[in-house]
Amino acid sequence: MNKVSTLMAGACVLTACALGSGANTIAQGQGPADRPAVTVRGQTYTPRSILARNMGTEEDQTTAFSPHKVIGNIYYVGTRTLSSFLIVTPEGNILINSTYERNVPTIEKSVAQLGFRFSDIKILLGTHAHGDHQEGDAVVKQRTGAQVMVMAEDVPAMQAIKPGGKEHPIDRTLHDGDSVTLGGTTLVAHLTAGHTRGCTTWTMTAQEGGRNYNVVFACSLRAPGNVTPAVESEFTRTFKLVRSLPCDVPLGDHPAQYNMHAKHARLKAGAPNPFIDAANCTLEADIQEAMYRAGLAEQAKPAQP
Ligand SMILES: [Zn+2]
Repeated sequence: MNKVSTLMAGACVLTACALGSGANTIAQGQGPADRPAVTVRGQTYTPRSILARNMGTEEDQTTAFSPHKVIGNIYYVGTRTLSSFLIVTPEGNILINSTYERNVPTIEKSVAQLGFRFSDIKILLGTHAHGDHQEGDAVVKQRTGAQVMVMAEDVPAMQAIKPGGKEHPIDRTLHDGDSVTLGGTTLVAHLTAGHTRGCTTWTMTAQEGGRNYNVVFACSLRAPGNVTPAVESEFTRTFKLVRSLPCDVPLGDHPAQYNMHAKHARLKAGAPNPFIDAANCTLEADIQEAMYRAGLAEQAKPAQP
């Protein structure tokens, strides 16, 4: 396998998405295109470079990134390239994104390293119905008894994620604008469809140093290779909506979407929290919208003779 096809195994790519560990819809050697190229804030991206940035290597997808506090009661417990966030409350904890099923023990270990108990997870949320973000839901539910909540528009795709034949747990179906509250923390579910039908961006307020900060857990905004009219109308609404969300702390379901590695390297006691980064709240939307529009323009071109 060459590097690009290794990156794609089990992950969502521009042309297709594997919906579970068993669904191998991607032919070997067929990678995302290296065009169109777009330049945003001085950096050039192609579909291939974005996929490489998001997924890294197989090892990056499965190796724990140093678990750390992001802000307030929010902690990072994911791998180098697949985000998983723990939100700690006095009445139990919330996990956003179980990632791949094989990563669940790794996430459990990161939770323990931070001094929390995996069994205290009462609610399991997610950003979208792709295996690299929510394949592990059934195992997290088995180990914690957490309530699993899914945006209505993602329910069919979520039900198709059944590693080892296990049914995907869904305890509550959510709708745009619904809120989820536990122990004084409220998360709001925003439907930001396009990447999947029920792609969900979560927002909450975190307290640090006597101030409130608006935190945005963004869903992927990466467009599929072929944009249908239905997907086009989803993205038209979504790009506008994500830019309107109050935001001080941008986060994403892949660490590269918010430059986690560079920010984490700047974490220092007594220094400003690098995850507070309002100036870059729309950077990922800017990159993905530029790529989306460039892709649409190519799609509209007549086929070359
Ligand atoms: Zn995805």
